[in-house]
Parts: sequence; C-alpha cells; structure tokens
Amino acid sequence: MQFDIITIFPKILDSYFSESILKRAQLASLIKIKIHNLRDFTSDKHHTVDDTPYGGGPGMVLIIEPLYKCLKSIRRRKKSKVILLDPAGNQFTQKKAASFSKLDQLIFICGRYEGVDSRIDKYIDEEVSIGPYVLSGGELGAAVIVEVVSRLLPGVLGSAESLQYETFSGKKSDIVEYPQYTRPKDFKGQKVPKVLLSGNHKEINEWRKSKSK
Ligand code: SAM
Repeated sequence: MQFDIITIFPKILDSYFSESILKRAQLASLIKIKIHNLRDFTSDKHHTVDDTPYGGGPGMVLIIEPLYKCLKSIRRRKKSKVILLDPAGNQFTQKKAASFSKLDQLIFICGRYEGVDSRIDKYIDEEVSIGPYVLSGGELGAAVIVEVVSRLLPGVLGSAESLQYETFSGKKSDIVEYPQYTRPKDFKGQKVPKVLLSGNHKEINEWRKSKSK
C-alpha cells in the first residue's frame, strides 16, 4: 500500500515514519510512504503556498494551484483515494481504517492556517477528521491514519493474533481489549490477578472476556 502526504512541513513527518513498526513495514516493502513538499509545486521565487481569504477574515488559506499541480504529479494506483484532513470531515474510526486498508493508495492533503481553498473539493474523494478538536495542521491526522491503516495490512504486525483481540477490532466493533499485565507479579502491593498465573487457558479466556468492556 502506498501513502502520499502533501504538506508544507515535511520534516514533521520524517522522524515519525522512520521508527518502529512503520520503519520496519517500509523496509519490508509492505508499505511505501512518500512525502511531498507543497512548496516544490509553487511557481514564484518565494514559494508562496498561502494567501489572504477573499471576502476578508482572519488568517491565511492554502492556495489551490500548487495543490492541484502536486496532485497531478502523483502517479495514481488502481484503487486510490484523495483525502483532505479537515476537523469537520467524516470521523476516522477503526471501521473506516479497515475500509481504507483495502485500497492500494491513500493521498493526504494536510491543511494549515485557516484551511484550504474550497475549490479543492473537485479533486478530493473525502474529508476526514481524526477527532472533534482543532489541530494546527493535517500532518498529525495523516500520521494517525497511516499508522492505523498500516497495522491492518498483512505482515505489518508481528502476530496477526494481536489484531484479532485488539480494541475496536472484534466482531462487536466497540469492544475494548482486556487488561494486560507483565513482570513483576507484585508491584508495590498491586498483584497480577491469580487466574493469569494459573496456566488454565479456559479460565484465562473467560476472565478476559468478563473484563473486556
Ligand atoms: N479554520 C478551520 C476550522 O475552523 O475548521 C481550522 C483549520 S486548522 C487550524 C488547519 C488544518 O489542520 C485543517 O485545514 C486540517 O487540515 C487540519 N486539522 C485540524 N484539526 C483537524 C482534525 N481534527 N482532523 C483532521 N485534520 C485537522
């Protein structure tokens, strides 16, 4: 699966994608992440990406032309989707991640300042929000979606079983994973539930089921 991220702050994302699971997934060619610097698609010497809004009002708005040029430069795979990160967009959920994971490519437009010229709507497939709050830019949103979708791709997690029992992933999509414990058995008087040390898998499963919210 390929992820293309259009941003005016590429460095924000570089370090996040070069560690841990996402790093390994890229090295194993399970995913490809390409970060596109919007400023490379401007035509003036100052590499201007924003301007004041028509009709007045506070802040700046991302200009459509560099975004259009950048989108045009990205080679589209068969099943691809262009997503505009937007706090007022459709809520990103585990269920939406599962549907995105069936695609070959996700292309993200990260807004900044007051947002993006509305004429971008003609070139996107969906507006997606990662939560009911306002961030300063779409970069964190893109990173969240890349990570959640990648975890669902075959081979990205060490054990496919991890996914099966994960919060929001079961048959009842609202189920929350059971509590987990590791060493030590006793931490300042807080003991690991006895059943988990019993070796009785039937009882352990029943206990875990009873503790899942
Ligand atoms: N003026 C906009 C409004 O009131 O809705 C907020 C713009 S916000 C400061 C700048 C950019 O951050 C947005 O264009 C969007 O790309 C991104 N962003 C902010 N919050 C987000 C969220 N909850 N989910 C996804 N993207 C978000």
